[in-house]
Amino acid sequence: MTVYQRNSSQLRKARAFVRGVGTGIVDPESFIGKDESNPGMKAIQVKQVGGPEAMEVAELPVPQPKVNEAVVKLAASGVNFIDVYFREGRYKTPLPFTPGQEGAGVVTAVGSDVKLVKAGDRVAWCGVQGSYAEYAAVPADRLVPVPQGVSDHHAAAAMLQGMTAHYLSHDTHPLKKGETALVHAAAGGVGLLLAQMAHNIGARVIATVSTEEKAKLAREAGADEVILYTQADFEAETKRLTGGKGVDVVYDSVGKTTFEKGLNVLRPRGIMVLFGGSSGAVPPFDLIALSQKGSLYVTRPTLVNYIATREELVARSSAVFGMIAAGKLKLRSEHSYPLAEAQQAHRDLEERKTTGKLLLIP
Ligand code: NDP
Repeated sequence: MTVYQRNSSQLRKARAFVRGVGTGIVDPESFIGKDESNPGMKAIQVKQVGGPEAMEVAELPVPQPKVNEAVVKLAASGVNFIDVYFREGRYKTPLPFTPGQEGAGVVTAVGSDVKLVKAGDRVAWCGVQGSYAEYAAVPADRLVPVPQGVSDHHAAAAMLQGMTAHYLSHDTHPLKKGETALVHAAAGGVGLLLAQMAHNIGARVIATVSTEEKAKLAREAGADEVILYTQADFEAETKRLTGGKGVDVVYDSVGKTTFEKGLNVLRPRGIMVLFGGSSGAVPPFDLIALSQKGSLYVTRPTLVNYIATREELVARSSAVFGMIAAGKLKLRSEHSYPLAEAQQAHRDLEERKTTGKLLLIP
């Protein structure tokens, strides 16, 4: 691009910009200026970690693809709890950065080495920072095709939480028909999808939620029993509902406030799948407790290890998209916000006001 070849100082800035592309770390200082070849775009930027107000609307250059990248014009960006962790600094990333780990849209440009996608393809991705924007540059091997029968918004809503629900129920603990699973926060983004998948497998689902409205949604998603864990003691209730036997698996994304009691409701040799900390991080604990409570298993999985290869990414996303297209997995994405209202989206998510998926629409 000629705009980046005017003099050595501008060239340095241009290189700084190109380095940032695809990482979500695009320094606006390095944006030499708008011209016809790069009209600029709106994106959310975090310059200092903090509360929702740390997210500002910024005017940034439209990213240019590196040799292995594709640039995607976003139709929707998924909001996930992990975005909160990055925004508040619990998970570290260099500043400034554009948040957002998930999106769907249409490819507008590809780097010279890219063979997997071409301009005009409908694609989706997750796990690459920088989707709270009008455009994002993404490594092409992290993009998956969106099949007909799945809308852009559904694709953006399903990638991260859908594949998470899939690996939790099919791989971390491959649920079997007749088993009993306790699913915490079952009306949340992951929760509603996990409850449906567990139900479809034929497992008995005991769900926890905070309100009656959320209880209704959890039941519609296939929960057999719902406990309002803000009003009742979920440990006592789960023991009662299982006749004292305990559950085969606990899927816990709430963490700090639920973890310890969760260990008490597992059957001997049952498994605690701790996959998040919406209420805060679980403090260190003595491993001997696992022996005393029945030779239990604990795992702390994360999606990235379950979509590490291209083959696994494509297989898992295809499985999730297949469930959506077949009507076996219903997505709830009533919480859509304009991109500029990212702060409000985070407030609502953190204040437990939302159910299902939150989307930002550029
Ligand atoms: P959710 O839509 O589930 O929102 C979080 C929910 O957690 C709330 O709606 C609320 O449900 C419940 N909750 C309980 N206590 C609190 C609290 N103190 N503050 C806020 N919420 C609370 O979010 P996501 O679906 O995006 O993510 C769910 C969890 O899964 C997160 O912890 C996230 O980090 C994790 N995750 C992990 C992945 C992995 O691979 N390990 C991948 C994806 C997500 P209620 O009101 O019913 O209590």
